[in-house]
Amino acid sequence: MHTGMATGPVPLPVVGTLPQYSRAAGLGTVKWVGSSNESCIAPAPSAVAAMTEAAAGTNRYPGIAGEKLVMAISDTLGLSAEQIAVGAGSLALLGQILSAYAPPGSSVIYAWRSYEAYPILIALAGANSVPVALDACHRHDLEAIGAAIGADTSVVLLCNPNNPTGTVLEMWEITEFLDNAPREVLVVLDEAYTEYSFSGNDSAELLDKYPNLLILRTFSKAYGLAGARAGYLLAHTDIAANIRAVAPPFGLSSLAQAGAVAAWADIDYLKASVAEVVAERDYLASELVARGLEFPSSGGNFVWIPAGFRSLELEAACVAHGVSVRAFQGAGVRVTISVREASEAVLAALDSLSTLPSGQAASPIAAPSAPKNHSTGGAS
Ligand SMILES: *Cc1c(COP(=O)(O)O)cnc(C)c1O
Repeated sequence: MHTGMATGPVPLPVVGTLPQYSRAAGLGTVKWVGSSNESCIAPAPSAVAAMTEAAAGTNRYPGIAGEKLVMAISDTLGLSAEQIAVGAGSLALLGQILSAYAPPGSSVIYAWRSYEAYPILIALAGANSVPVALDACHRHDLEAIGAAIGADTSVVLLCNPNNPTGTVLEMWEITEFLDNAPREVLVVLDEAYTEYSFSGNDSAELLDKYPNLLILRTFSKAYGLAGARAGYLLAHTDIAANIRAVAPPFGLSSLAQAGAVAAWADIDYLKASVAEVVAERDYLASELVARGLEFPSSGGNFVWIPAGFRSLELEAACVAHGVSVRAFQGAGVRVTISVREASEAVLAALDSLSTLPSGQAASPIAAPSAPKNHSTGGAS
């Protein structure tokens, strides 16, 4: 029998040290949810119908590795099925990528601030996080990221567009980075928001030239299927095979697969929902500009307001106006694009804030120290 404090099974030490995924304030009470970068548009009716039909067959297991979705993606993109892997969301795939390619003790480099799931998944893999600060325009500092690569580096994560700042890396920047990156380092391009910023499929064309490139995408954002859990990756045949090898069997449910296959084929839905979100993003951005705010152009379905020390105050004001947002204390507030009323609520929250007392600073949010609005040339 154990003595001392331990009264039951003891988990791995890492379990108690994992960073926590942040929680938005006001969830469950607000009228509009703008805190998780979900699509504000319901999934395609074709996807809902396919999932409904698939529900009747759920006494059977799905294919072991999402073969139907792999075939659909392969046909459209002109890549071989061996270059594709699918899973229960791109986060599940990222976990597999790290377990196959980031050995314990190796280093995984990523920009910071970026997606908050990265440090959690890296710690879970037993690897070391190497965050590299964004530049003054809230963009990836690719030079600094390149300089951080060392002998112990296993993986580099590039988030494009970047969550939460929305900044976009152009293909020439990524190509230049890949030209200089050692071939033993796996470069993961997380393109969760790519549909909001690139209409083509440019990054996939880089796979031939750069066998250490992996492209990660999801059905959770522009396809409106966050709750279904489906994602895919494109990579060199050997890399995709190794990632499939560490996949949990039957990871992609038959419901998620049916929804994703239907959504993938429904190009009209994708175009219309992306256009709607981009139009609203442009409206919100123009209203922020009109208020003299300086913030980065966004290529995603969200806008980053670098509110600095007033971030929590802005979050509270947004919640009071009926919309949840995601505040990162001391840094900024990420607003997911939703309907016009939600944009107006965020703007009203901002307007209410500049009249509130806030220590000695009477200046509006994010001025005067915030960097210039950086135009990336994306669809923004
Ligand atoms: C939302 C998001 C994802 C999507 O994760 P899923 O598991 O596919 O839902 C991946 N990467 C980034 C940067 C995201 O913001």
